[in-house]
Order: sequence, then structure tokens, then C-alpha cells
Amino acid sequence: MFEISVEKTIACAHRLFGYNGPCEALHGHNYTVVVSYEGEQLDQFGMLVDFVDVKREFNAVLAVLDHTYLNDLPWFDNLSPSAENIAKVIFQQMKKTQFERGRVSSVKVWETPTQFAIYRE
Ligand SMILES: [Zn+2]
Repeated sequence: MFEISVEKTIACAHRLFGYNGPCEALHGHNYTVVVSYEGEQLDQFGMLVDFVDVKREFNAVLAVLDHTYLNDLPWFDNLSPSAENIAKVIFQQMKKTQFERGRVSSVKVWETPTQFAIYRE
């Protein structure tokens, strides 16, 4: 089994409504997001999925989130913008683009340098 990953950092504001803690107030994070693909077969160049193709899709999805107030995005209309749900939303968006050999295996969202959430299906 092969796995490849691409990482990118975005800046977002959010608040967790109804949460009794500091994340209820409007604040921001520099989220580091890692998308991973897995699969058994490589192409003739020895690649699972071309990093160029992954980055094109990843950049397009993350551009929707970067420098926004997450609570205002339709993706979070009925979903609290926690690190867990941010990972889930990004996973679901990335899954819309299918590659021949690699499938999205996980999305990891680092909310701070010492804590992260992972979404897998
Ligand atoms: Zn927060």
C-alpha cells in the first residue's frame, strides 16, 4: 500500500456557538491541513497520484476556506466549524475528484501545533 500526502496552511476565523469555553468567542487559527491518498498501484512514472494534480485540487478547495469567517460559509450552515468538521468537509470536497489509482484516505487538520483532528471514511 502506498500513501502520499500534501500539506498546506490556511488562516480562518470561527466561533463555536453555544460552546462554554474560549472557542465560543470570535477568534482565528492558522490551520495546517494534510490530505492523504492511498492505493496499491503506481503509474509508469512510479507515482500513485501526481502531486501536481493533488495540489491543484487541494488549493482550489482550501481557497474557499482561506481568510474567511468559516461560520459564514454554506458548508457550515448546519455544522459547527470545529477542526473535526473542517477535516470532514475538506475530505468530502477532495473526494469529488477521483484519480485513477489513489483514493483520498484521510484529511488531518492541525488547529494548533500540538492538537489536530483526522477524518477518514
Ligand atoms: Zn478555535
